[in-house]
Amino acid sequence: MSPDFLLAPQRYDLPIVALSVLIACFSVYVTLDLVRRGRGADRTAAAFWGLAGGLVLGTGVWAMHFEGMLALRLPMAVGYEPGRTLLSWLVAVSTASWALHLVLRPRLTWGIALGGGPALGAGVCAMHFTGMAALQLEPGVHWNVALVAAAGLLACAVCAAGLVLCFAVQQLQRPWIGAGQGAAALVIGLGLAGVHYTAMAAAGFPLEALCLSANGLDGSSLGALVAVATAVLLVMGMLASALEERIQARARGLAQSLQQANAQLERADAERRRQALQDPLTGVANLALFENRLALAMARAQRHQAAPVPGAWGVAVLCVDVDGFKPVNDGWGHASGDELLRQIAARLAALARDVDTVARVGSDEFVLLLEELSSLDEAVAVARRVLHAVAQPFTLPQRRLTISCSVGIAMAPGHGDAARLFACAETAMRSAKAGGGGGWAVFEAARHPGLFDVAELQHALRAALGTPQLQLHFQPKVDAGSAALAGVEALLRWTHPVRGPISPAEFIPVAERCGLIVPLGDWVLDAACAQIAAWAARGCAVPVAVNFSGHQLRQPDMAERVERTLRRHGVPAALLVCEVTESVAMEHGGTAQRVLAELRALGVKLSIDDFGTGYSSLASLRQLQVQELKIDRGFVRDLATDPDARAVVDAVVRLAHALGLVVVAEGVETAEQRHVLLALGCDQLQGYHFARPMPAPALEAAGLVAAAQPLRELLHAPLHAVPAPPPKPARQGA
Ligand code: C2E
Ligand code: CA
Ligand code: CA
Repeated sequence: MSPDFLLAPQRYDLPIVALSVLIACFSVYVTLDLVRRGRGADRTAAAFWGLAGGLVLGTGVWAMHFEGMLALRLPMAVGYEPGRTLLSWLVAVSTASWALHLVLRPRLTWGIALGGGPALGAGVCAMHFTGMAALQLEPGVHWNVALVAAAGLLACAVCAAGLVLCFAVQQLQRPWIGAGQGAAALVIGLGLAGVHYTAMAAAGFPLEALCLSANGLDGSSLGALVAVATAVLLVMGMLASALEERIQARARGLAQSLQQANAQLERADAERRRQALQDPLTGVANLALFENRLALAMARAQRHQAAPVPGAWGVAVLCVDVDGFKPVNDGWGHASGDELLRQIAARLAALARDVDTVARVGSDEFVLLLEELSSLDEAVAVARRVLHAVAQPFTLPQRRLTISCSVGIAMAPGHGDAARLFACAETAMRSAKAGGGGGWAVFEAARHPGLFDVAELQHALRAALGTPQLQLHFQPKVDAGSAALAGVEALLRWTHPVRGPISPAEFIPVAERCGLIVPLGDWVLDAACAQIAAWAARGCAVPVAVNFSGHQLRQPDMAERVERTLRRHGVPAALLVCEVTESVAMEHGGTAQRVLAELRALGVKLSIDDFGTGYSSLASLRQLQVQELKIDRGFVRDLATDPDARAVVDAVVRLAHALGLVVVAEGVETAEQRHVLLALGCDQLQGYHFARPMPAPALEAAGLVAAAQPLRELLHAPLHAVPAPPPKPARQGA
């Protein structure tokens, strides 16, 4: 219906139109940024960001509408009624807040898009027409109903599309967030501006109309104020969002570096644990890990035995020892020996199942821990596979080699607990070896009744370390002619609380087998040096001989340990004698040789123990630069009855003297033996005939220590010098 008065033509101030569109787009952009902060934040923060977004969006859209109205040039003076103007702003802010409440929901549903769109559109329209009403024209605005409807529909469509776009933008990942937000802001901002200008086009302003609120809020200055205030609000919103982004980025960076540091720590820790439990040469488990796994396996098996659970719970230990490894190592060099061990370990690991453990527990000794077995036959089958695998030719640097191994089998339940199982498997392995090697044997308890004691002995010895159960006794070595004290040999004594004294001949091999010999040897060395220092403090220089086992000499840092001990007690190296058995002294090219050379360089004297029981030639002793040779007591025992023994001792003494070595005969029990040894030219004698091993106070009480060489003389002698053999007495007839 056409009006019965003339309508004013609609002319717009284009820069202000552009400003209004810019405000709409910018406010949507800032709002989207704030919404992104709200999403994923905790409830309070999300509410804050939602509220801030509502304020920014509502004010922005309202400002766009206000500027849009100001852009319209009307022929009459206009102003805005403050109450309705404020109401339109409140409608805008509450509509926007509600829109953000919808956008911050976890998911976009059809209900939100289809229901929220028109509802928000209605809010936008309500703001627009409330704002228009603030003009208070008389006669009033003439509305083009079709365009009003079009503006309403457009508002609903823009709001629904806006919701969808807001959700879509929230799903974007870097680096698409900025661009996505910009595009969405442009679409929604233009849409909202479109709604405004469509609604404005629907309004016809009578040419003669009077603005009743011309005295209210004044147009142009108010427009500038709204534009500036909105810009400030938007910029502050932007800044807050950017600040939050920086804080978040820093927090993310910190969390990431924390995570990295954690991962690094975990890796280092795992590496350390792996190294502590791994054999460095072959990469399979070491003795410590094997013992641990065995104990766990036994505990599991026992639990299932106690409360019968269906399944296979047998545990077997297979002890695998390479036949004839030493000749390979000695003859072809350690590199070949090492490579052979690595290849054997790899073959054993290849045939083991996931639940099994392969470990290297001695130089050429491996063990397999087999779990979840239902019978001994399964363990025997694995032993056969081991024999077959090791029997295949090995390719070593520049040569091929075929060897064999011996496998001992022990199984629980049947052969005992965790500690015994290993000892049983070793015993079985020795039986297999005794049968010629290249075969397997199962432990037979009946054939080794004493074996079960070995495990108990290991356990008790471990417990005895550091307690008064272990003590050092000292046995004098006397000058063959004058019978004056020439030195003592330190011999370890163990008094078990129940069994009483246990011979070192029994417990030393056990300690060697279970790795206890190293701490035990350290203790002996320390106690011996302490005793040397105590005697030295009284002015007596008593050389003390300490027995070193091969295992100790294969410790790469043994010489440093000896040096540290000597220094700790303030003892001259010349007063310490290191007794090693022939076989260890003759190990070629290994750590033991290096350690012996280092000990010699320190000034420690070297003595070959039990000479005559090994296969060494006197010529190789020369290379070793030992200072002393102890003739095994087997020869001494047979001296009186066996002419061969006498001939051997005679030859040994002559050759040893030719090489400048001091000869000691041990196990001298009778005056007759003493006479013969003296006649043969032995320098020093040791045995029950003179004194048994005894504690230091007993030695002192017997007046033996006082007869030792005064300390002064010894300290003035050159440190590395070999003591001159004592003057030979005139030979007596044998
Ligand atoms: P060994 O080094 O040959 O020590 C000499 C052994 O002969 C000692 O036996 C000693 O008591 C014994 N003996 C001394 N005089 C006579 C005698 O006149 N007649 C007889 N029949 N025997 C005599 P012990 O103390 O039982 O030591 C046995 C072995 O144990 C030692 O043989 C040595 O190999 C080892 N051993 C002892 N203490 C230690 C130690 O601290 N460290 C190491 N690695 N081995 C030790
Ligand atoms: Ca000895
Ligand atoms: Ca000996």
